[in-house]
Amino acid sequence: MKIAVIGTGYVGLVVGACFAETGNDVVCVDKDAAKVRMLKRGKIPIYEPGLEEIVRSNHAKHRLHFTTTLADAVRKSEVIFIAVGTPTAEDGSADLQHVLAAAREVARSMNGYKVIVDKSTVPVGTAALVTATMAKETTHAFSVVSNPEFLKQGAAVDDFLKPDRVVIGSDDKRAADIMIDLYRPFTRTGAPIMVMDTASAEMCKYAANAMLATRISFMNEIANVCELYGADVDKVRQAIATDKRIGPAFLFPGIGYGGSCFPKDVKAIVKFSADKKYSFRILEAVEAVNARQKQRLLTKLDKHFGKSLKGKTIAVWGLSFKPRTDDMREAPAVPLINGLLERGAKVRAFDPEARDMAKMFFGKKIHYAANAYDALTGADALLIVTEWNEFREPDFFRMKRAMKTPVVFDGRNIYDPEQIRGFGFTYSSIGRP
Ligand code: NAD
Repeated sequence: MKIAVIGTGYVGLVVGACFAETGNDVVCVDKDAAKVRMLKRGKIPIYEPGLEEIVRSNHAKHRLHFTTTLADAVRKSEVIFIAVGTPTAEDGSADLQHVLAAAREVARSMNGYKVIVDKSTVPVGTAALVTATMAKETTHAFSVVSNPEFLKQGAAVDDFLKPDRVVIGSDDKRAADIMIDLYRPFTRTGAPIMVMDTASAEMCKYAANAMLATRISFMNEIANVCELYGADVDKVRQAIATDKRIGPAFLFPGIGYGGSCFPKDVKAIVKFSADKKYSFRILEAVEAVNARQKQRLLTKLDKHFGKSLKGKTIAVWGLSFKPRTDDMREAPAVPLINGLLERGAKVRAFDPEARDMAKMFFGKKIHYAANAYDALTGADALLIVTEWNEFREPDFFRMKRAMKTPVVFDGRNIYDPEQIRGFGFTYSSIGRP
């Protein structure tokens, strides 16, 4: 099939590369000319495991192309995915300006029947809005389909190639059948392709992300109460995970969720519920709990060092919002490091992949260490912010030698408290004695 993907970000590039991988002819469009130039040279603008390989190989086989010219891409394609950003607007809603701008341009470039796919996460009712927006600009026939994306950054290629399910929202059988054909190669292991109306499909994505964000905030509150009573959240987590109704996934406490999806999608569902005069109380609390949890390590530091960190050096391990990505959008590291700087601390940070992204947030205000141990040089304390695998089994002797004082605040519970204390560290984590 001939496909166009508009927006070559974390989602669009994966979608384009994976459809090319199954033999389709894909053209990826982005308005960012620098990004397109880079992609044409076989360079990937983001860090996503496994992505570079399939982009390169499909580009070399002439199944994956890159352009800034949307009109050409649309004219050549039967199916057009819109995968542009939908950031939070000032009122908390998902800002649809990029989606609607892309839709208008697609409509103006049409030369026959096309399936337009909303791949971006968009509020309920957006397929109808895109349809109305496009209808003003073209007389050609088209169908707008909602096809929310459930991939996880850090495992995006795998998630796309082997999805748990594919959701297709369509009020038109012809378009739904084209989408089923397109996704068939990814669902050979039995993952269902679920066809439904567009409104329900749009709601699926928000329901999934809101549920996951709720689980995180819930476990963070359980952890905080465990701390108050000397209970161990690890033991509590393992015990409740055996309950089949609960299950083991997504029960790890920490210092709050981040990324480009959970914070924005929780805000958006609260807002589009409020637009219908419904106050989504649980999700309002989920957000408030998350904001408080992002301050958790600062509160612990204040208790340990007092309110000022003047003259202190704080090492930070991990900057991205989670491991295996360089994305720092809404990352807990951002308010945390700003808090350290406000308290007068010198910050030495290390992240295996997010160094360049971090420079956009902090410029010259912090030191970017060459490796994890370099970050520890002369440090009064170490904060574990992102649970990259390479932090899990460090050389504790080397750490202790590098640091001024062996103090660790672990926001991701990656160490065994007894073990690290055995090496002579003062150690504090989330929800464990
Ligand atoms: P992103 O910011 O990484 O990428 C968006 C891209 O779209 C950018 O490269 C931008 O230059 C381009 N763009 C914007 N307007 C354009 C236009 N008119 N024409 C051409 N290109 C244009 O965003 P992302 O993280 O890939 O997210 C995209 C959408 O997918 C969002 O709605 C997001 O909520 C959703 N989503 C994201 C994830 C994720 O893990 N990141 C997962 C599922 C769904």
